[in-house]
Amino acid sequence: HAIGRSIDEETSRVLPASAEHFRRSSELIPGGASRGRFWWPAPIYVERARGVSLHDIDGRTYIDCLVGFGSMILGHAHPAVTDAVAAQVALGTVFGAPCVQEEHLARLVVSNVPGAERAVFVGSGTEATMTALRIARAATGRDVVAKFEGGWHGAQDFLLHSFTETDGELTAPRAVPSSAGLSRSSSRDVVVLPYNHDAALVRIRDEAHRLACVVVEPVQGAAGGLPTEREFLERLRAVCDETGVLLVFDEVISGFRLGPAGAGGLYGVTADLVTLGKIIGGGLSIGAVAGRADLMGRVASREGRPVAASGTFAANPLSMAAGVAQLSVLLDDPDTYPRLAVLGQRMRDGLRQVLAAHGIRGWVTGVGSLWGLHFSAESPRTVRDLATASPSVARVLAAYLLLEGVVMSAPVHLGFLSTAHTEKDVDLVISAHSSALKRMKEE
Ligand code: PMP
Repeated sequence: HAIGRSIDEETSRVLPASAEHFRRSSELIPGGASRGRFWWPAPIYVERARGVSLHDIDGRTYIDCLVGFGSMILGHAHPAVTDAVAAQVALGTVFGAPCVQEEHLARLVVSNVPGAERAVFVGSGTEATMTALRIARAATGRDVVAKFEGGWHGAQDFLLHSFTETDGELTAPRAVPSSAGLSRSSSRDVVVLPYNHDAALVRIRDEAHRLACVVVEPVQGAAGGLPTEREFLERLRAVCDETGVLLVFDEVISGFRLGPAGAGGLYGVTADLVTLGKIIGGGLSIGAVAGRADLMGRVASREGRPVAASGTFAANPLSMAAGVAQLSVLLDDPDTYPRLAVLGQRMRDGLRQVLAAHGIRGWVTGVGSLWGLHFSAESPRTVRDLATASPSVARVLAAYLLLEGVVMSAPVHLGFLSTAHTEKDVDLVISAHSSALKRMKEE
């Protein structure tokens, strides 16, 4: 509590302009900011961003470890992306008619993502997962969808269960609403599965007659960078094949981050449908569903009712242009992904060394350019293992990191690297963790 008060005071002293905006906005916007709830004790207001640097309205500069929640894999304001966006802005931004950039982006998705024979674009990752569920229901004639504990698939009712809070036996979880205001029927139409546990496979077999699909993040992102074990993913694929339940990979974070072929490529497992977002929009709003041609054809079905997948901003030329520009730069250099993986490993190794040096029990998770840091009792494989970690420790760490000039998420510690991060940036982030953890230990 005392630590909380001292951080609060220190933050308002160091960041007076942000603190003042936050105070004034709190009279207008619930919680002070629509994008504010990840920040404690208060958010910074960012004026501009370039590369890995965020510059706030108090004149401070930070190394950004969130890079647009993973969207800005080239770093902020990459010239290829800003040029493409500026050119498109001058030509118009929403047409209500198709634009040629959509074909270009679809080709980049279809030629890189395993199992993607067709792709459609929507406005956000949330819309992508909503659309994927509809396609799966239309194709199977079944209502119920399955998801894993700890999986985050956007703020949509069915999949918004058992994100951090869990209930029931480990092998037989019960669905816990992760938001107020969900309908009871949405809770009835979801089956929650234990992550990385073979009991999930038994449950899928038992429930198969009413299951349209199983949705999984091949690396759980918002839960803190917890990878699905390869053998588990392979067994999941096999049980879906055996039962006719469709397998949906939610690659909104991992798509074009873990490699051109995403997590599907990294693990060598192909889903029936894949949802994408973030990176494919170059920093503008986007979502996509890609997958088997017969399933994707449901959105333009001539026999029976088509699956709705549209929206005012779906496939708008600005998002398409930004996405094409970002993916083109990303895919152009064969060294991009190996380099990101090396930097990610440097970060994970460095953070493990910091924990050891301070004698702090903690765990570093992640894969490729993603990492998480957790203070649970045991090395976490699932969100249940994280229940033993105190969210306030993660919050205090993030608050101290901010004061050290590093932007990191809390209470879930999930970091993202971009091609703009250098070894020096990684080392600075590691030493900021060392200073922040030292302060926490002293207090
Ligand atoms: N799926 C996953 C795996 C995500 O991480 C997110 C967003 N963090 C979403 C879906 C939702 O995407 P959006 O925020 O663009 O709606």
